[in-house]
Amino acid sequence: MPGRRVLLASRNPHKLAELRDLLADLPIEIVSPDDVGIEEEPAEADIEAWDSFAANALAKAAWFRARSGLPTLADDSGLCVDALEGGPGVFSRRFAPASSIGEDGQDPANNSHLLKLLHGRPEAERGAHYGCALALIDDGMQVVTSGRVDGRIATEELGAGGFGYDPLFVVPEFERTFGELPPEVKAERSHRARAVTAMRTWLA
Ligand code: IMP
Repeated sequence: MPGRRVLLASRNPHKLAELRDLLADLPIEIVSPDDVGIEEEPAEADIEAWDSFAANALAKAAWFRARSGLPTLADDSGLCVDALEGGPGVFSRRFAPASSIGEDGQDPANNSHLLKLLHGRPEAERGAHYGCALALIDDGMQVVTSGRVDGRIATEELGAGGFGYDPLFVVPEFERTFGELPPEVKAERSHRARAVTAMRTWLA
């Protein structure tokens, strides 16, 4: 018998896929906004208006919880680069200027923009981390967990795995980017995996 339904409050297919995999062993049925017929509204673009992953994750969870009545889990995450004083952080999704976005879309433009900003920086000045906050809202409860993974920004895109900034994010232990490493490695030690580990007892 399928377990209780939990809404994953994201329209990002990559995040949905990673979270579904990370939660696959729990006795819950994961559904997406599309699965339960929540149509995208223009106002969704303004939900993530806060300056922390935690506040944005809570805002997303509350928004989708109000429209579904289901226990709702939301992810807000991003890349924080030391040389950019923690940026792009909560602005990771729309980092590249709109004028630089070509046919390939936002993610490749973000990566080119980041490489340009770090051009000429030595390895020691390329430190970065991914951060992730997960928020779960259900009747009378609200929980936020977080996770991070430390690494470095490569000088060129390497590998085609993962999504977003993954071809640029070097995991020092392997000296490979998440784009090059097998998905199992990311599933074990990513920011999202760590936030999920902390959330598991609440979901179970
Ligand atoms: P959000 O939808 O505002 O949380 O945007 C998250 C953005 O951060 C994504 O669009 C990516 O650009 C970046 N990001 C978050 N997590 C990852 C990851 O696991 N790999 C690569 N990029 C990520």
